Amino acid sequence: MNKRTALQSDVLVIGAGIAGCATALQLARRGKKVTLIERDQAGVRASGVNFGGVRQNGRDLRELPVAMRARAMWDDLPGLIGFDGEFRATGNLRLATDEERAEQLDQFYTDATAQGLGLVRLEPMDLVVRYPWLSTKPIRGVLCPNDGHANPRLVGPAFAFAAQSAGATLVEHTEITEGWYASGAFHVRAPDNRSFSAPVLVNCAGAWAGKVAGWFDEAVTLVPEVPQVQVTEPLPYRIEPVLGFMGGDFYLRQTLRGNILFGSGQGRATADILRSRPLPETMRRGAEIAIDFIPALAHVPIIRSWTGVDGDTSDGVCVLGASETHPGLFHAFGFNGHGFLLGPAVGAVLTELILDGKTKTEIDGLGIGRFRPPRKKSPASAHEQHPDEDAQAGAEEEDAQQADQRRVGAEQDEESHGNEQSADRDQQP
Ligand SMILES: Cc1cc2nc3c(=O)[nH]c(=O)nc-3n(C[C@H](O)[C@H](O)[C@H](O)COP(=O)(O)OP(=O)(O)OC[C@H]3O[C@@H](n4cnc5c(N)ncnc54)[C@H](O)[C@@H]3O)c2cc1C
Repeated sequence: MNKRTALQSDVLVIGAGIAGCATALQLARRGKKVTLIERDQAGVRASGVNFGGVRQNGRDLRELPVAMRARAMWDDLPGLIGFDGEFRATGNLRLATDEERAEQLDQFYTDATAQGLGLVRLEPMDLVVRYPWLSTKPIRGVLCPNDGHANPRLVGPAFAFAAQSAGATLVEHTEITEGWYASGAFHVRAPDNRSFSAPVLVNCAGAWAGKVAGWFDEAVTLVPEVPQVQVTEPLPYRIEPVLGFMGGDFYLRQTLRGNILFGSGQGRATADILRSRPLPETMRRGAEIAIDFIPALAHVPIIRSWTGVDGDTSDGVCVLGASETHPGLFHAFGFNGHGFLLGPAVGAVLTELILDGKTKTEIDGLGIGRFRPPRKKSPASAHEQHPDEDAQAGAEEEDAQQADQRRVGAEQDEESHGNEQSADRDQQP
């Protein structure tokens, strides 16, 4: 291909994680010419290294409709990607260790049950009887029997293969560094001058997506989240549900082969968040918490620890939907460490929005507009406002957006230690 030739498609997708690949897959199945552009290799970032939790339990209610749609799609993974991705519906058990968290868990139980999510509320005695390996620290549990886990190392890349099999073009090792809208199309360019154009652009750039949105005047500040996970030697299979804790940054599951995976705390990432690594102190702390909740884990050898990077929004909820500045631009990012489950439904929702102009899934609370800096009010009412004042307000808004963009840059100028502010937030994959 001539390096300066713009490759034309119906849709360009930036980012071949589970969100971008699932979108490319659905669009290609509906006959669209899709080009999926990936800086590295498909599925090797968060989507391929995560903890593997497939969880509706404990979700922010704004994400629950997408989560429930996604969960139904996990049952049909063979129909989507050709195999089951080792998905097993072993349940997700969310636990609370103090009264305040127990009340929050009860509230979630009430609200989510009203939205149709099947949950079981468990008192301390229920926990003892059902899960004899669990310590007596938890005072409440809510089980979502329909949740479970899968193998991200298989599922991440498999979505890319499926998208290609359906006809999408995957362009790997190509970082997009510029994007703009002109003459009725979106144009994006790599540093070697290859460029790509299409009337529709989908931003699925994971932890880097806030910057991509910034090219189109709607930058969002994403704080890098660097979850640290570790895994033990295989043990006899005992722990069926995936465990998560209200307000606590700890989660654990046992693979069908017997290894116990658990995560807690953050690792360390480089300034550009392209590389991350585990920290020994985070490992030690995670192991202590694991033993606190499952005493039998004391002395079990840990064989490996790893990290990955996801992007956190300021309200802990993802961005999914159409741009508010450019018709034809769509965003799906800011998954706050729990976008693996959502992936299949992200593809379905975006495809409906792009091709049908609407989606059957409730996404009202997920719009990018909620991060738009508030427009400064002039003393005059909107009707009385002079056009020059309007321009002034627009300039102020622009200033605020540029400040937002500068913040994205600033984050990337310093070495990140993971999202330390997330320690007190509910960071459950
Ligand atoms: C350690 C860890 C554990 C987790 N555990 C869970 C869990 O148990 N359950 C759960 O639901 N979620 C979990 N998550 C979160 C989940 O993995 C992510 O939310 C999800 O994979 C995000 O998918 P994505 O496609 O948006 O992002 P990614 O998989 O990060 O894909 C985005 C892609 O965009 C590419 N890209 C970015 N910028 C550009 C550019 N300019 N040009 C070209 N390509 C670009 C990147 O290289 C990347 O491949 C975890 C995350 C981590 C890191």
